[in-house]
Amino acid sequence: MTTKYLFFTGGVVSSVGKGVTAAALGLTLKERGFKVAVQKLDPYINVDPGTMSPYQHGEVYVLDDGAETDLDLGHYERFIDIRLSRVSNFTSGQVYAETISKERRGDYLGGTIQVIPHITNEIKRRIGLVAKETGAEVVLVEIGGTVGDIESQPFLEALRQLRNEVGRENVFFIHVTWLPYIGATGELKTKPTQHSVAVLRSIGISPNMIIARSDYAITQDLTDKIALFCDVEKQAVIPMVTSDVLYEVPLLVEKAGVPDYVIEKLNLKSTRTPDMKPWQRLVDNVRKPKPTIKIALVGKYVELQDAYMSVREALKHAALANEVEVEIGWVHSADLEKDKGWDIVQSADGILVPGGFGSRGIEGKIMAARYAREKKIPYLGLCLGMQTMTIEFARNVLNLEDANSSEFDRGSEHPVIDLMLEQRGITDMGGTMRLGLYPCVLQKGTKAAAAYGVTQVDERHRHRFEFNNNYMEMFEKGGMVFSGMSPDGKLVEIAEIKDHPYMVASQFHPEFLSRPMRPHPLFVGLMKTAKERSGK
Ligand code: GLN
Repeated sequence: MTTKYLFFTGGVVSSVGKGVTAAALGLTLKERGFKVAVQKLDPYINVDPGTMSPYQHGEVYVLDDGAETDLDLGHYERFIDIRLSRVSNFTSGQVYAETISKERRGDYLGGTIQVIPHITNEIKRRIGLVAKETGAEVVLVEIGGTVGDIESQPFLEALRQLRNEVGRENVFFIHVTWLPYIGATGELKTKPTQHSVAVLRSIGISPNMIIARSDYAITQDLTDKIALFCDVEKQAVIPMVTSDVLYEVPLLVEKAGVPDYVIEKLNLKSTRTPDMKPWQRLVDNVRKPKPTIKIALVGKYVELQDAYMSVREALKHAALANEVEVEIGWVHSADLEKDKGWDIVQSADGILVPGGFGSRGIEGKIMAARYAREKKIPYLGLCLGMQTMTIEFARNVLNLEDANSSEFDRGSEHPVIDLMLEQRGITDMGGTMRLGLYPCVLQKGTKAAAAYGVTQVDERHRHRFEFNNNYMEMFEKGGMVFSGMSPDGKLVEIAEIKDHPYMVASQFHPEFLSRPMRPHPLFVGLMKTAKERSGK
């Protein structure tokens, strides 16, 4: 079987939905019976986004195998409903690290190591790994950033080489661009698209398709003009106007004829008629007027909502399942410490405290947990949100006044959250946390077990600290239930407050496994109790 490659490049500006478009096309191809796989290439030098600030990069998306990856992988998993692995994301940092360590080992036998061919070979090898590992017949590869970026040059050169190596008939280039709108004249402009295609062609790549993104309606004379100037067939210039519903993109891609055009050009035969009806129903449901449920999201990177991409999507999935609209109130936890932002928390039907690192805003998160516990507001804590829930409980219910996590206070007399034993000697920051999928056994009769409806689950982790078991008995006597534990009974995975409608928190990150058609049970539980409480 020959692998077919779909390469996605970006033109004009980034952040116009290249990843979503790739994910949507992936879904329409899977619907046609093809085994698809996806890969994102990130030209930055970091080895992975795990050590980057969420302000710089947005969310770090974690896979089953513990890979810390770009948030676009979240789009791929949510749209295509597949489970990806480490090979699905790599960076310049990884490519160089690998090449340099080979050079140090003497693998190159005295040769001069250069971008071409050594770096480009390593890029091609890693692209090849996806089909090898997954057996996919169609591999969608998205190149981060926009053409013209200095750091993406070796990647584009590698794709150009690959085209000849695997055969032109097996490769299809899709260039995703942006048409700026000029208010003064009320028109969309194609010139930046023409320029970005010119740059692409100067490195030897002619796109087979151009997807032109815009916030405004795109007329046919514009797409015809793009076709003429960019040397692409008219029907391969696809206008893609921004949708108010993210999950409509697969329907738009389907309707625009993108998958049909691609499979014809790649000489593929579909084995199934795509059934997009579930997606149509989903989109119809999103658009249906529904009562609004307010969830206060008390985080520390709230200025950049991309930092909570999967949390936001998981809330939307859970809202749909409960036939409500979710309105997220973004609250900066540090504001709560200064008596600001409380109006949002007080008017909310539910409170969510997501993951995070470092001490800034911790006291605000603890205050939010106290408010939720005392006022019996539905609460969901994710990772750090579980840790702050237990710290609050220790301080205000168990009267352990200086209780804290040793992440924030090394001198605390009551480190109820502490470093795992295996973490003690670690000095390297990258890729050394407890990462990826771990099993969790649910205790019968608890809210968590009721939400899941099963006895054991596997969830994705990303943390260094854990609940300190020395305090377990004390907590249980005080009214906390450890409803999810690792199978050996050593690690607390889910904690909940007994005397409360729904105060549940997990050490893992449930948001990574929520899907539009399969909302995550813990989020559904939050939304359900928040809805009940609001009386809507
Ligand atoms: N900082 C905490 C830890 O390392 C929580 C991490 C998180 O929320 N992802 O354990």
